[in-house]
Amino acid sequence: MNPSQLAIARVALETERRRLTEDLAEPPETPSQMTYGSQAAAASEVFAQQRDLALRGKSGKGLDLVTDALARLDDGTFGRCLRCGAAIPEERLEVLPWAAFCIACQQLEKDGR
Ligand SMILES: [Zn+2]
Repeated sequence: MNPSQLAIARVALETERRRLTEDLAEPPETPSQMTYGSQAAAASEVFAQQRDLALRGKSGKGLDLVTDALARLDDGTFGRCLRCGAAIPEERLEVLPWAAFCIACQQLEKDGR
């Protein structure tokens, strides 16, 4: 990748990192004004909380991916597949600047191979 593409990737990654960090910093939703005698309302509060936690877990993982990609930008290995060492296609990095694998390896990782 050329320097301007790397600069674009860095801005995208830093923006994403800020967004994810802010996301994680928000206090978790707490059940507010529980209405006694309304089981349905209570259940939906619990559901909202669980969903919120699930999203948070996802954000945490995303933050790891973004942080790792920024580290690769710094050490000069950005854009190389962590598994096979091949260059990750630029179109892929434009869409997913935190991609750590080429498309073939991503598939293998997903299959758990
Ligand atoms: Zn690969």
